[in-house]
Amino acid sequence: MSRSLPRDASRAARPGVVYLVGAGPGDPGLVTVRALELVASADVVLHDRLIGAGILEQARDDAELIYVGKRPGEPAVAQGEIESLLIEHGRTGRSVVRLKGGDPFVFGRGGEEAEALAAAGVGFEVVPGVTAGVAAPAYAGIPVTHRDDASAVAFVTGHEDPSKDETALDWAALARFPGTLVLYMGVGNLPAIAERLEGAGRDPAEPAAAIERGTHAGQRTVGSTLAGLPDAVAEAGLGAPAILLFGPVAARRDAIAWLERRPLHGRRVVVTRARAQASGLAATLRALGAEVVELPAIRIEPRLDAAEVRDAVADLHTYALVCLTSPNGVRLLFEAMATRGRDARALANATVAAIGPGTAAALADRGLIADIVPDRFVAEALVEALAAVEVRDRPVLVARAAEARDVLPDALAERGAKVDVVALYETVREDPDPAAIDAAAGADYVTFTSSSTVRNLFDAIGDRFPRNARIVSIGPVTSQAVRDAGLTVDVEARRHDPAGLVEALVADAGRG
Ligand code: SAH
Repeated sequence: MSRSLPRDASRAARPGVVYLVGAGPGDPGLVTVRALELVASADVVLHDRLIGAGILEQARDDAELIYVGKRPGEPAVAQGEIESLLIEHGRTGRSVVRLKGGDPFVFGRGGEEAEALAAAGVGFEVVPGVTAGVAAPAYAGIPVTHRDDASAVAFVTGHEDPSKDETALDWAALARFPGTLVLYMGVGNLPAIAERLEGAGRDPAEPAAAIERGTHAGQRTVGSTLAGLPDAVAEAGLGAPAILLFGPVAARRDAIAWLERRPLHGRRVVVTRARAQASGLAATLRALGAEVVELPAIRIEPRLDAAEVRDAVADLHTYALVCLTSPNGVRLLFEAMATRGRDARALANATVAAIGPGTAAALADRGLIADIVPDRFVAEALVEALAAVEVRDRPVLVARAAEARDVLPDALAERGAKVDVVALYETVREDPDPAAIDAAAGADYVTFTSSSTVRNLFDAIGDRFPRNARIVSIGPVTSQAVRDAGLTVDVEARRHDPAGLVEALVADAGRG
C-alpha cells in the first residue's frame, strides 16, 4: 500500500482471536484500513463469494484461505458448519479473519457468528464495513437521506417471497414508512415486492431505482417509479447482486449521478505492460472510470548477475556520462549497486541523463536529480539533448533493456565516446491468462507502451486480438510496431509517456 499507516504491532491480527470483518461492497478502495491490516496479518481467512477483487491478494503467502460461500449450482456451506470452523480455528490459537461482503452485521449473519463465538468462549472482534445499501446508491448518485425529503432510511431484506402468507416483514408498515426503503437480496422478487408495497398503499409514482453490482467496474443503475421498476429492470436485464431503492431521493440521481460522468466510464481498456509496471497506468485509467483489463504481454527478467552488469557497477565511478532509458533500468541499476555495497555516490562524478520524466522520477526517488531530460521521450530526443555534453574519448554507460534500439549508443559512438552498452534486463514474453484474453475480447481500447509488447502480444494471442478495439500507442516507435503487425494505430500520444497516453485516450473517448 502506498498510503502510510501508523505502524503499531498491536494493530495486527492477534493469535486466538476471530475477526468478523466487512470487506466493503466491491470497489477495492472501499475496504477499511483495519480490514486490510487484519487480512494482511491473519493466519486463516474464511471468506464469502461477494468479496471484491484484490483484498484476498493482500493475505500472507502462507495464510490459509478457506472459501465458505455458495457457488452457483452448489449447496452453500451450512451456517452451523461455518460457525464450527470459526470456533475450531480460533481455538488452535491462530489469528482468524472471517471476511464478509459489505458490513458483517447487515444481512451478513455476523450476529449469529459472534453469538456462537461468545458461547464457545472464543475471543472475537468486529470490523464494520461499507454496506452495499449505502454504497451502491452513493455510486449511483442517490443520497439515502436528504434534509428535504428523507429523514429516515430502512434496510430491508427482499429475500423472502412476499407472496407467502407467513412473512416476517410488515408490508403495511413498510408502505407507510416515512423515508427511503433500501432492499437487499430483492431483485429476484421485485415484481412481487412492488405489488405488495403498492397494495399496502405506497405511492406507485414514487421514484425508485435498482443498482446492480454497485461500486464494481460495470455497475449498472436503472431509475423508474415504484410501479415501473419491475419492467424497467426486466428490460435492462439486471440481476443479483442488486440493491432496490424506493423513495423521493431516487429522483435526485438526475442531478447527482457522477460515476457515469467520468471521462472513461463504460470503456473497457486493455493494458499490455508488464505486470510490474502496469499498476500506475491501470490505476489512472480506473480513476477516470475505465474498466481495466490487465493483459501483460511481457515480463521483466533482470540480468544482474551478468558479467557486463557486474563490471559496469564496479567501474561506475569512472563514467563521464550515464544514460538511463526506463524506470526499470533505474530500479535495477540501484539493486545491482546495492548488492555490491555501492550507493548513489558512485554516480557523483557522472552527468546523468534520463530518457523521460518517469525515468527522472525513479532517479529522484533515489536522491539523484537527472542532469538531462529531453522534451520528447524517444532515443532521438535524448541524442539531441546530449549534444552539449562533451563525450569524445570519454567513457559512457548506456544502461537499458537487452532488446533496445541502438540509436543512442550509435550516436554517442559516432561522436567519439567510448560507449559501454549494458543490458540490465530482458523483456520476455508472458503467456496471457485465458480469462484476461476473454475479457479483452470486448475491449474498446488496447494500449501499447512499447514495441516489444506489441510483438509479444501478437505472438501470444494472434487471431484472438480484439479487432474492434481502438489502438492507442505511446509514440512513433511503438506505432511502427503496430503497423508492422498489420494493424492501424487509431490514437498516438503526443507526449510519449504513460500520462501522455492517458491524455490522448481520454481526448479520443470524448470525441466518440
Ligand atoms: N453484508 C452485505 C449484504 C449481504 S446480503 C452488506 O452489508 O452489503 C447480499 C445482498 O447484498 C445482495 O443480494 C445484494 O442485494 C446486496 N449487495 C451486496 N453487494 C452488492 C453490490 N456490490 N451491489 C449491489 N448490491 C449488493
